[in-house]
Amino acid sequence: MNVWRRLTGPRRALALAGAGALVAGGLVTIPGTAAQAATQCDIAYTSNDWQGGFTANITIKNVGDPLNGWTLGWTFPNSSQRVQQGWSATYTQSGSQVTARSMSYNGTLATGASTNIGFNGAWSGSNPKPTSFTLNGVACNGGTTPPTTSPPTDPPTDPPTDPPTDPPTTPPPGTKVDNPYVGVRGYVNPEWKAKADAEAGGSRVSNNPTAVWLDRIAAINGTPNSSSNGAFGVKEHLDEALRQGAGYIQFVIYNLPGRDCSALASNGELGPDELPKYKAQYIDPIAAIQSQSKYSSLRIINIIEIDSLPNLVTNTSGQPGGTVMCDTVKANGAYVNGVGYALAKLGAIGNVYNYIDSGHHGWLGWDSNFNPSAEILKTAAVASGSTVNNVHGFITNTANYSALQEPYFKVTDNVNGQTVRQSKWVDWNYYVDELSFAQAFRTKLVSLGFNSNIGMLIDTSRNGWGGSARPTGPGAMTSVDTYVNGGRIDRRAHLGNWCNQAGAGLGERPRANPATGIDAYVWVKPPGESDGSSSEIPNNEGKGFDRMCDPTYGGNARNGNNPSGALGNAPISGAWFSAQFQELMRNAYPAL
Ligand code: BGC
Repeated sequence: MNVWRRLTGPRRALALAGAGALVAGGLVTIPGTAAQAATQCDIAYTSNDWQGGFTANITIKNVGDPLNGWTLGWTFPNSSQRVQQGWSATYTQSGSQVTARSMSYNGTLATGASTNIGFNGAWSGSNPKPTSFTLNGVACNGGTTPPTTSPPTDPPTDPPTDPPTDPPTTPPPGTKVDNPYVGVRGYVNPEWKAKADAEAGGSRVSNNPTAVWLDRIAAINGTPNSSSNGAFGVKEHLDEALRQGAGYIQFVIYNLPGRDCSALASNGELGPDELPKYKAQYIDPIAAIQSQSKYSSLRIINIIEIDSLPNLVTNTSGQPGGTVMCDTVKANGAYVNGVGYALAKLGAIGNVYNYIDSGHHGWLGWDSNFNPSAEILKTAAVASGSTVNNVHGFITNTANYSALQEPYFKVTDNVNGQTVRQSKWVDWNYYVDELSFAQAFRTKLVSLGFNSNIGMLIDTSRNGWGGSARPTGPGAMTSVDTYVNGGRIDRRAHLGNWCNQAGAGLGERPRANPATGIDAYVWVKPPGESDGSSSEIPNNEGKGFDRMCDPTYGGNARNGNNPSGALGNAPISGAWFSAQFQELMRNAYPAL
């Protein structure tokens, strides 16, 4: 796990130059000479623009004969427009002409099937959307190309067909409710509970529901020998949930190819090219168990792939601290298509609820991260045959430490004529806490086409920031910095710090419907489980050593070159960290 934001600064205040969607669609008419050609396509091109840059998303719908490999072509209207980094296709640009070629995994498009591709681009002057496209050389009607054949004038001669005789399809078992957290008890993971109970004072919190992390293929059947999870697999947890009389149970789907592409502490077992293995050996078996009818009375909640999609926006190379691994999984579509596949497969089950991870305010709270991240979540939600209906909501702050609410300053406050946004801590962010961010991000996601009843979750497992160091009122009005630093309850050295943060406390206990737009406060990161080792520890679980977990590390561009703020003597990610658990209890807010 790793969550950070990219370097920020005043340039983030630049206004959005425009955003919008253009459907360059319609049925394509086949050019005269290609009367036999059966390629027909419908292209939707949307772009999200800011000064000098943009993210474009393109949906290619095949409305002709099945395709086995495709090449999409268009001409940018403005000579300054450039494709910089694309995903889910191989892009080439010559002058203003762009071609995007299918990848091995998305070249096959059945009649009626769609696929999504996209890219980040640059522009100057203006950024008009292209209006005409070709697919395999055949024009897709951009709405501006007049049809070359006349519309049929005769009325249809066929009599109406008989009404369908097939019985209506049986609805899947279980019924989805608007908020799966309401009115029922959450599943208490006995493996986590045992570790918490073994700690002095641990029984005060050990009855809270925490999520079960499926952090490798073996975890589906149980991993008695791993340092994080235990012998229970998906089936044992579901059986135990029934035995407890629980109403909901939470799993974390966390095993994407090239996992945790921007850091080292939670790299996983699958290489960046192992999407087929992710589908067949990870998602499919989980779906096979979750869909068993004996579990249909449980509300099964899946938290989908922590940190993955926003990393494609903020942590590709060319950005401060960006990595080649993030480039790779962006270019090969592993994250977007992996998430799409997981959503489609798991969302098809009547009593399963998918919530996709969507970072936190200290990572995505700047427009230049906020908007493209929302877009890429949408792209993933409709990738690999999924639709937005497979998404019940989103979660923020998973395994992070961002405060739920900063009670002593607001983003709109001014000190000596300077806005709080100019303080070093806030650094031009538009949000100062998680609740305001989650609510705004929800609104943004709905505006992009997610269902209007989606709900947000906030991981409050470790964002309490109580204890004796918690401020009791606003900071001194000497400057924006004294005001913010004196009053902020988040005591980190920098919002980009993410590993085993010293001084943190347990946050709000899990509960349903805590605020507008929020389905629940949840404990997804089980408190007491490490974020990563503070020095290198050899292990056979694929866990690397990230210096952001080393208390002696002086930081890098992504945390403003601040100390890491991590606790010392930490075990590898997922392993029990007793000293951290004790501190989390001491600094709990609300206090225990
Ligand atoms: C680790 C997982 C662990 C999870 C919950 C992640 O950072 O990589 O192995 O299950 O945290 O503690």
